[in-house]
Amino acid sequence: MYDVIIVGSGGAGLSAALSAKEKTNKVLVISKTYPTHSQTVQAQGGINCVLDYENDSISNHINDTYKSSKELGNINTIKKMCESAQKTIIWLDKLGVPFSRDNSGKIAQRYFGGTKAKRTCYSSDYTGLKIIHTLYDNCIKNNIEFLNEHTLIDLIINENKYLGINVFNLLSGEVIDLYSKTLIIATGGYGNIYSTHTTNSVSTTGDGLAIAFKHGIKLSNLEFIQFHPTALKGTNTLISESARAEGAFLIDDEGNRFVDELTTRDEVARAIKIKIDNGENVYLDMRHINANIIKEKMPQEQKLIKDIMNLDVHKDLIPIVPAVHYTMGGILTDVSCETSIKDIYACGEVAQNNTHGANRLGGNSLLEIITFGKIAGNNAAEISLKKETNIPNKIEFNVINLILEKKLGKSIYKIKNDLSEAMFNYAGLYRTNNDLKKLHLLIKKFEEEYKNTGIENKSKKYNKNIVDYIELGNLLILSKLVCQSALKRRESRGSHFRKDYKQINKEYQKISTIQNIKERVEYKLEEAL
Ligand SMILES: Cc1cc2nc3c(=O)[nH]c(=O)nc-3n(C[C@H](O)[C@H](O)[C@H](O)COP(=O)(O)OP(=O)(O)OC[C@H]3O[C@@H](n4cnc5c(N)ncnc54)[C@H](O)[C@@H]3O)c2cc1C
Repeated sequence: MYDVIIVGSGGAGLSAALSAKEKTNKVLVISKTYPTHSQTVQAQGGINCVLDYENDSISNHINDTYKSSKELGNINTIKKMCESAQKTIIWLDKLGVPFSRDNSGKIAQRYFGGTKAKRTCYSSDYTGLKIIHTLYDNCIKNNIEFLNEHTLIDLIINENKYLGINVFNLLSGEVIDLYSKTLIIATGGYGNIYSTHTTNSVSTTGDGLAIAFKHGIKLSNLEFIQFHPTALKGTNTLISESARAEGAFLIDDEGNRFVDELTTRDEVARAIKIKIDNGENVYLDMRHINANIIKEKMPQEQKLIKDIMNLDVHKDLIPIVPAVHYTMGGILTDVSCETSIKDIYACGEVAQNNTHGANRLGGNSLLEIITFGKIAGNNAAEISLKKETNIPNKIEFNVINLILEKKLGKSIYKIKNDLSEAMFNYAGLYRTNNDLKKLHLLIKKFEEEYKNTGIENKSKKYNKNIVDYIELGNLLILSKLVCQSALKRRESRGSHFRKDYKQINKEYQKISTIQNIKERVEYKLEEAL
């Protein structure tokens, strides 16, 4: 029996683990990937924190975040994150994150979209990678137990009481039960419902949300999907906001700049999409940026552009498209990270704790996952120390055999691609009632196809197809919930833009919640917690 089990070893999960370990030794982290493969490792641009009080202030950070949330954030949660940002950065710095420094040795900062101050701390353009490696090193140093390549497939809940989890061990092909007094879900976002149009790692398949939903845990704000304006055309590889922060322009076929490059992502992405829908190309223009700045601050981006597109940032224009980047919706939590079921916590991109609302500011996600990861770890550990529980009788769980016994129909990979194309076409940067209704029907068709197919590889050991099959089931659940939520929000707000309801509508100045109550989907608009 563990005190705290954490599912997910991204920035949120590892911060939670380190913080829980300060209170108890009985901490376990399980993850379907290795920690160094989590989404967090891809974060390039940086992490927000006010350090320069002459030109910036914490109240500016709070206001910018709330403004960007389009009044769907909760000011107290936002305050919690912004007011403790300096403590968070100092914590990371002390753990060993090699932040870039200015000439006087202070942590360097850059501009990011949606703010007029240099507020983003960074490690060159490898910020997430440096953070994850440092957190993981510290977890190892603190003897935190890890089960990698183990996929969460279900929660064990009895009469609304959390008991443990069912986990698929990829190596052996077996399902094991793990029991704990508290659980932290830190499984990341659901960007892969748009798998062919996303900058996200393959692991962001919304597993935590879908599993939570099946058990009646409340989800929220699923309709808010953030598109990043600048992914390399044809590859979905991200070129971070740091490029525009360091002065890169966005230009059209005529060479004209057409949007303020440093306004919020939703506005920049929509301006680009209009150009693309008109048959034009859009380019990132970095040719005028000093070569030393590129070398020092954007070495990864320069290399990606060379390796993937064979283009030279000093001479060439770089064709870009918007791509799905971040999912604002998640498992609804309060500021303590607790979900609607006691003893189950959620943090990181999987959670909707009312920080980002309808639109996340660049650099605020890394800050949020570390801040609330630490809070979740601390609270889950504290609660577990006061709780007595017994290990329940083992319940037979036959899901893997059922998958292996299924006859092969349509390829699960084809279903996944078709789902992504449908999501992109009908629930993309622009939505309409008719498109979303079409999408709903298509998802129902994909669900049928999924039910009637299995996988080709029938072996049990290290059969990645089994994980892919389970993930597709979760993607389908999430896609349907996103579609339903987008249909219900009859207004345009932040990243959710309805062509048939173009204005913001005060009546919708509420978070959406969606919950499975005895197999009936209940949708509501509620005040932010
Ligand atoms: C290309 C890119 C660049 C970005 N740059 C920035 C940036 O500069 N600044 C910023 O603030 N934000 C940035 N973001 C956003 C930020 O990186 C993410 O929001 C954040 O890293 C999410 O962290 P997380 O810990 O919640 O989840 P993740 O890092 O996604 O980790 C989730 C973990 O859960 C595991 N998992 C998932 N499902 C299961 C399951 N069923 N069973 C077991 N384990 C499971 C995964 O294996 C993984 O270990 C960027 C995002 C992308 C895609």
